[in-house]
Amino acid sequence: MECILIGTGGMMPMPYRMLASLAVRLNGRIYMFDAGEGTQINWKRVRLGVRGLKVIAVTHLHADHCLGIPGMIMLRAQMEDPDPLTVLGPPGTRDFIVQSQRLVDFKVNFPINVIEWSADNSGLAYQDDQARVLWQPVKHTRFCLGYRFEELDRPGKFDPTRAEGLGVPKGPLWGKLQKGESVRTSADRIIQPSDVLGLARRGRHIAFVVDTRPAPGVYSLCKNADMAFLEGMFLTEHSDHADMKGHMTVVEAARIAKKSGAARAVLLHISPRYENSELGKLEEEARKEFPSIRIGRDLDVFEVSFPEKD
Ligand SMILES: [Zn+2]
Ligand SMILES: [Zn+2]
Repeated sequence: MECILIGTGGMMPMPYRMLASLAVRLNGRIYMFDAGEGTQINWKRVRLGVRGLKVIAVTHLHADHCLGIPGMIMLRAQMEDPDPLTVLGPPGTRDFIVQSQRLVDFKVNFPINVIEWSADNSGLAYQDDQARVLWQPVKHTRFCLGYRFEELDRPGKFDPTRAEGLGVPKGPLWGKLQKGESVRTSADRIIQPSDVLGLARRGRHIAFVVDTRPAPGVYSLCKNADMAFLEGMFLTEHSDHADMKGHMTVVEAARIAKKSGAARAVLLHISPRYENSELGKLEEEARKEFPSIRIGRDLDVFEVSFPEKD
């Protein structure tokens, strides 16, 4: 699983930093979190392609998080016969897409399935055969969602010696057991998958939480995540801005990452007031709370490995 930082900035795209956006790539499928203005420029730079893009999850309808959706849709519409696209977001997301498409009159050659947050579908936003996306409101100046991407648990490890001992010879019956089906041996004995498989192995979990003050939902989204992408917009000396505009300082974000047990953490949605030469200062401040934390840079790629050795 790879996490690719398409951009790491907040508020507005700058010559030195595009807007915060994350692409998670798993087995050729891409799940994208936020799409601000100009997102497709760095998307092209990392050569991700758009065929694999299946889901765009939007945290909230502030320009720096959603203005890039029409651009990504247009980029995707250049392909022949694209798959349907799922867009997750707060109430208003469907209207934003429909109205911008109508007003700008761009072509869409694939179905767009928009799922908006509501109290009824809180918790689980989306699931396919390899991963699920969870969402939860956080605390910003307007309704904003935090996300958690979870790879589905994998079945436990198959024990060939045990299978043979139970009278299941190597062959197609092994495959059935590994797929979770029970089988009948030649001695007319029923063998269950649980007889030959170890405990299910946990998939990899990623948190993506931006544009929020510290809030209980932020902790639960980051809880024991293998990797947490968190907003760290300001240095502590500018904490009055963070408080007023519903954002977090690097120190607040680092504390959350540490307290919630995240294995690794990366900060993004950096204020445009800090040039790249100042990022070291932000990192230094955050590392006093969480020594391995990093300030994300545009186009950074993080490989996320399984939590335990197989
Ligand atoms: Zn923002
Ligand atoms: Zn915002």
